[in-house]
Amino acid sequence: MVELKTPEQIAKMRQAGLVVAAMHRACAEAAVPGASTKDLDRVAAKVLADHGAKPNFLGYGGFPGNICTSVNDVVVHGIPSEDDVLRSGDLLSIDAGAVIDGWHGDAAITVLVGEGHSDEVVELSRVTERSMWAGLAAMRKGNRLVDISRAVESYVRRQPRPSSGAYGIVEEYGGHGIGSAMHMDPHVLNYVERRRGRGPKLVPGMCLAIEPMLTLGTPRTHVLSDDWTVKTDDGSWSSHWEHSIALTEEGPLVLTAPDGGKAMLGELGITTAPDPLG
Ligand code: MG
Repeated sequence: MVELKTPEQIAKMRQAGLVVAAMHRACAEAAVPGASTKDLDRVAAKVLADHGAKPNFLGYGGFPGNICTSVNDVVVHGIPSEDDVLRSGDLLSIDAGAVIDGWHGDAAITVLVGEGHSDEVVELSRVTERSMWAGLAAMRKGNRLVDISRAVESYVRRQPRPSSGAYGIVEEYGGHGIGSAMHMDPHVLNYVERRRGRGPKLVPGMCLAIEPMLTLGTPRTHVLSDDWTVKTDDGSWSSHWEHSIALTEEGPLVLTAPDGGKAMLGELGITTAPDPLG
């Protein structure tokens, strides 16, 4: 069963989504060479407190941070740490979440720390972000879940290839339904797997987190002995982008984007729903 939200509940999720956007803004600004990922976690905690929001990452399955900080060959679920000091040239993904009155927001960005990134690393982040927008653009009435997965995968495969021969599309993790909990049905693959079928129809009231994870090499990953940190098997670097999106009677609304997705989806010819918060 996929949870369908009322317009009032979507308005709460929009509030939570804007807190997540504020967490990203503040953390991206603080992500300078010499800062530790624990410093960023403190920045995130302050934004949550300032907005009267609750963390959803902290304590989730025992997770010890307010955000996940994943550097270079860490794909997702990196734990903020005083020992993890950012250096110029690092590629950092920041996954953040917030809860307002029981309604959840969840999004991730990739940040180029300092300078000196290779063109390939810059392009990795760009392709990952754009593949997320391709997936978000497929969140429309009449589509099925598989149309989102196909949009992400086909966007990636249409891009010029990295020197390894192909981007790795991570298969072991993916997007998810979101609402009264952070992780809900359905699971959202970032590639098409025929035996899974086409998935449910996308209908107003549905809210999803769409989150491609790409690597410059293998799609294969492993979890470190801390039980959280996910790294690529071949040490290749990885990027992660994510937004939470609601489908409403008036169209899609990207809950965790400050403008509701208006600019980026507008470029793709899609009119977003009006912001319930005005
Ligand atoms: Mg997520």
